[in-house]
Amino acid sequence: MERVIGIDLGTTNSCVAIIDDDGIPQVIPNRGGYKTTPSIVAVTEGGRRLVGHIAKRQSITNSENTVYTAKRLIGRKWDSAPVRSARQSVSYTIDEGPHGDVRIKLRDEHFSVQEISAMILQEMKLVAEESFPGEPLNRAVITVPAYFNDGQRQATKDAGHIAGLDVIRIINEPTAAALAYGYGKSMNKTIAVFDLGGGTFDVSILEIGEGGVFKVVATAGDTFLGGEDFDLRIVDWLIDGFKKEHGVDLREDRMALQRVKDAAEKAKCELSAVKEADVNLPFIISHGPDNESLHLQRSIDRATFETLCADLLERCLDICRGAMKDARLTASDIEEVVLVGGMTRMPAVQKACSDVFKREPSKGVHPDEVVAIGAAIQGKALLDEQEDLILLDVTPHALGLLTAGNHFDELIGQNTTVPTSATKTFTTSRDNQTAVKILVMQRESDENQLLGEFLLTGLRAAQKGQIEIEVTFSIDSDGIVSVFAKDCETGLEQSIQVTSSSGLSQEEISQMMVSAEEYMIERKGDDELEGVRQNAEKLIAEIEKLFPEVEALVASSDFGREALAKTRDVLALTKDAIAKNELAAIKEHSEALTRTLKMFKGVVSRPT
Ligand code: AMP
Repeated sequence: MERVIGIDLGTTNSCVAIIDDDGIPQVIPNRGGYKTTPSIVAVTEGGRRLVGHIAKRQSITNSENTVYTAKRLIGRKWDSAPVRSARQSVSYTIDEGPHGDVRIKLRDEHFSVQEISAMILQEMKLVAEESFPGEPLNRAVITVPAYFNDGQRQATKDAGHIAGLDVIRIINEPTAAALAYGYGKSMNKTIAVFDLGGGTFDVSILEIGEGGVFKVVATAGDTFLGGEDFDLRIVDWLIDGFKKEHGVDLREDRMALQRVKDAAEKAKCELSAVKEADVNLPFIISHGPDNESLHLQRSIDRATFETLCADLLERCLDICRGAMKDARLTASDIEEVVLVGGMTRMPAVQKACSDVFKREPSKGVHPDEVVAIGAAIQGKALLDEQEDLILLDVTPHALGLLTAGNHFDELIGQNTTVPTSATKTFTTSRDNQTAVKILVMQRESDENQLLGEFLLTGLRAAQKGQIEIEVTFSIDSDGIVSVFAKDCETGLEQSIQVTSSSGLSQEEISQMMVSAEEYMIERKGDDELEGVRQNAEKLIAEIEKLFPEVEALVASSDFGREALAKTRDVLALTKDAIAKNELAAIKEHSEALTRTLKMFKGVVSRPT
């Protein structure tokens, strides 16, 4: 059976998992042996694209062309509040795209956020494919924060398509974590998943029942609350202190700011294990106001850090209380708490979580890996009918229409089990009204957001209130919304899959798919060249090492001298082919070098 990969496309790190032949979920490590890959993309001065650890390592010296936390921008409009705030804090340039969407400038090119995310997804696909050589791994389940809205889900799915993946399902991160937690165990339990990652916070409450039934009863979250906000508290504290001491604002120096951000994140992580962390950034400013070099040296203790982010923790707790209220449950009904996301390593986060749920969190799952594992489990269950798994998730936002007088008319309530649909009949509000504009709204944190709009035209002329229009909203298992409108009398109908106005057109997606594929062909070619080159260089080194010894043994015969001359020629030709990146020639000469090395080894091991 074809395998499905599970991808946790994280704000900070991404992870890929698969179910192995024995039915055991496995996280697949990347080439460097790491089980997670930084969700970072960069373009070098020479135009080379870098993804993951290699992009992270060069981020300080190339901060303007290094994109991180792209997930915070996906599916959002350029002029939305979150993007406006990101524009102030990121080191790369965010421009406005043709649909009022976000485009990121890397060197001379602009990329949509979907393309940036696709580059990360391609990398994760590659990580998986390297563990299963020769097996194409095209099908994927990708996870998103439970609190993602329709536009963000669509955009993530589009990113998958651009990456050449058949995205068979989008599932919510906390739900995936619950699947990983409960997989293969027979239980009847109500659990809470507390998921605090690099960029988002989600909490879901689920009932796990016999026979592999996972039913989400409530979900709540904030897509702008995560590890980065905790880092920024330390960044502000360091920068404000430095300004007070030296009168220099490090925010104005991109490279210095990036160094402070990295150091703040490091200090934050250290403070999870020790009570005090040192921040030491020598030469943070090379020419200060009096042309002197300035250094940033400070230590921060755990208590100070916890005070700096007390309000962030309080926000997490409020969201948890809200989720319990929505589920009509109290802390005593929650039988297990599962922690997900790197930020749950912070002791104050763990304490806050146990305070609100009144129990110690479960230690049984790995916070960085559970989400990808859950996605892989869901992927297998979708293909394998024998698998006992029923997943019932909910929609995080209420959906409805905006009717006359800016009134939000709700059709589908928050926390309704998906897939679902709801129908409501509306009447025209003016005489001889021949068209109705349908404004599809989503209520997110008490604010109404326009998801999309469409016009039902060609209505027959009639007095106001005489024409009845039936509007049906559907939400599929990926959490994606479709709307269908019908003139009840004539049967005239129109439907749309709601793509938020910040989405890409089908044509753009196809074009981006082509360039992503071209890049992959080039990249695979590069990888092959690199492998062949490394092998050839190893052969050259071994032959050159043995050369003097072989020469001493064979140079006295004509045959020996001829063999040595041929060897010198092949060595020179191989080096030349390596310098010119000629794959076919390197391959051909490597064969000759392999024979030569065998011959050399035979000569030196022969008894004299
Ligand atoms: P995730 O999105 O789940 O990969 O979580 C990434 C976030 O977890 C980043 O903000 C990291 O800085 C944070 N993180 C990772 N390890 C730790 C740690 N030991 N203590 C505190 N935060 C951490």
